[in-house]
Amino acid sequence: MQELAPGRYRFRDALAAVAGEAPTAVDPDVLVELRAELEAVAADIAAHLPTEALPLRAPKDRLARVLGCERHVLATLGRREIGEAMVRGAALDHVVGRHVLGGAGVDPAVEVAREGLRVSGADDLLRWWDAQSAEVDDALREHLERAAELLVDGWGPIDPAWWPRPQVEATVVLADGAVVCSGRFDLVLGGPVTGLPGVIVEVKSGRARPAHRDDLLWYALLGGLRFGWVPALVATWSATDDGLVPLPVSEGALRAAARRGTDGIVRLAELAAGRTPKERAGPSCGWCPDLDRCATGLAELARRTDDDAERWDDEDDTTDDDDDGGGGGDGGA
Ligand code: SF4
Repeated sequence: MQELAPGRYRFRDALAAVAGEAPTAVDPDVLVELRAELEAVAADIAAHLPTEALPLRAPKDRLARVLGCERHVLATLGRREIGEAMVRGAALDHVVGRHVLGGAGVDPAVEVAREGLRVSGADDLLRWWDAQSAEVDDALREHLERAAELLVDGWGPIDPAWWPRPQVEATVVLADGAVVCSGRFDLVLGGPVTGLPGVIVEVKSGRARPAHRDDLLWYALLGGLRFGWVPALVATWSATDDGLVPLPVSEGALRAAARRGTDGIVRLAELAAGRTPKERAGPSCGWCPDLDRCATGLAELARRTDDDAERWDDEDDTTDDDDDGGGGGDGGA
């Protein structure tokens, strides 16, 4: 593989760098082994959790959050507070989807995004958008139009040989349904059917950060367990600055992702069993519903420097639909 040193890339350059790789990056026997390990953990959870707490759901975003602040996970469970970040993120997904399938640019981006929200049943997001001030509406429009320009410039048309699949859902059921891991990938390219290496891209309306690395590797494992092949590359693309943070996938990285995922699943099980959640200050303090009664979070915000604010000011742009993993369906990949 062409060297991909840590840093940011243009999408088309990163894709070219992996184009000659094998369709799956890791021996399938490794996936069998990792699945067996996760199955054993899930079976243990099934044996100890009361039936009413099952199935234990571990959508990818909840898993990531529980490894940050456990209290934040409980504070946000079942909440759906629509905000600008959520609408921007959902709208952007539709712009990216149209770009990779259409190949000739997305114009007008705002209408494409709104149509996508309408067709996908996100009426609540559209209602929220329509109720906003002209200033918020302008900001959303500007973001989407800029993103569409970046897609043309930084991504270019995607060769159909890559078989681009936007919004692919993946659900992995463990221990006869006791634990359900799920996720929705913003974009999947390649894989064995195409003869090209698999690539999974997570689209962010905020900034792509190296901190997304661990999440990306979990996506690689989740995709591998569901589809039977491991992507050669997982990457976060940011529509704010056209930054692509790519991460080649190795066997060691996949094993580390399995250990981290296991840790998260066990934490979710312990919380479901009633353990007191631990607090851990981090980026999510800024938009945490418990902030006004959380000494840890308040101290964190008081301590933050301007650099921290710059680094962490991107509110989570996922929707609850992402967090629920789409209810168990799978897009073929
Ligand atoms: S304010 Fe911060 S530390 Fe407190 S519960 Fe929320 S995310 Fe956790």
